[in-house]
Amino acid sequence: MSDEMHARRMQKKKDVVDGRIARATEERGVLILLKGNGKGKSSSAFGTLARSLGHGQKGAVIQFIKGRRETGEYRFFREYPNLDWHIMGHGFTWETQNREQDIEAAQAAWAVAEGLLKDPAYQLIVFDEMSYMFKYGYLDPEPVVAALQQRPRHQSVIITGRTMAQPLQEIADTISVVQDERHAFRGGVKAQAGIEF
Ligand code: ATP
Ligand code: MG
Repeated sequence: MSDEMHARRMQKKKDVVDGRIARATEERGVLILLKGNGKGKSSSAFGTLARSLGHGQKGAVIQFIKGRRETGEYRFFREYPNLDWHIMGHGFTWETQNREQDIEAAQAAWAVAEGLLKDPAYQLIVFDEMSYMFKYGYLDPEPVVAALQQRPRHQSVIITGRTMAQPLQEIADTISVVQDERHAFRGGVKAQAGIEF
């Protein structure tokens, strides 16, 4: 390709991008859903959290399912004064197989979540693994959708989980699917600190 042709092509691209930028004028928080079976949903959410905190914004995380070990992200972010980190869902399904207790845990987590969604001080909230609450019927999507729709205008929310409830997808601004093409675990590599947790 000649230099001239390349320059023309790039100019065309720039015009398209400039046009899109000119049309995107709204300033408000967004609802982001990160779903799919591949690896990268929670780490993407925490990457965005780092961005937000880097700008001096106030954030919060609710982990709807407590893992067996303390994660690196928790150890890193808990030192942060501008961030609240709630680990909920102590002993979910596969550990307890107690549905009543799971529902109670989900509702306790939701009570905290609901409070955050009413508080304009929080600019970014991460609901990690929240989607399982709907999948197993521990939470109704309707009150969650209502609370999300009524949240402060500048507040953004990220929800992660392999499968997403349809009512959430209907009101989301951004939905990304992390597709599983390959995972080291299936190749026999053990879950490692700093990569998996
Ligand atoms: P990460 O926290 O690494 O961004 P994730 O949030 O996308 O992963 P989850 O569904 O929450 O993935 O699963 C959590 C754990 O399972 C992580 O340790 C992750 O590496 C691992 N994992 C994610 N996807 C797969 C997969 N397709 N096969 C095996 N393990 C997976
Ligand atoms: Mg995850």
